[in-house]
Amino acid sequence: MQDCIFCKIINGDFNTEFVLENEYAVVFKDINPKADTHLLVVPKKHVESLNELNDEALLGKLMMTVKAAAQKAGLKSYRTVINTGKEAGQEVFHLHIHILAGNIRL
Ligand code: 5GP
Ligand code: ZN
Repeated sequence: MQDCIFCKIINGDFNTEFVLENEYAVVFKDINPKADTHLLVVPKKHVESLNELNDEALLGKLMMTVKAAAQKAGLKSYRTVINTGKEAGQEVFHLHIHILAGNIRL
């Protein structure tokens, strides 16, 4: 999608380093970390938010990607957050799952 920052990152426009990539998602570090480790799991398909997601299988794949990224980062204990809608703090309207660990400030 044009004008979507996460679509551009997925596209490689900013040479963002991916902590992990698979068929469904990319994982990269949050630019403004709210914990010692703050990763974002982002589906390759543009979906605005959880409210627009109808693909149960994709949600499963994303959660398994969360687990794989946490394992790869050596995290045993971590928090996952999905902000849905502006009032809840969603700033980027391309679905993403936050992974936070250590001194969590979110
Ligand atoms: P939201 O508030 O939508 O749940 O989370 C969006 C997150 O994306 C924020 O934590 C913000 O710091 C992060 N973010 C916004 N723009 C960029 C970017 O260009 N690169 C990276 N790596 N993270 C971004
Ligand atoms: Zn997008």
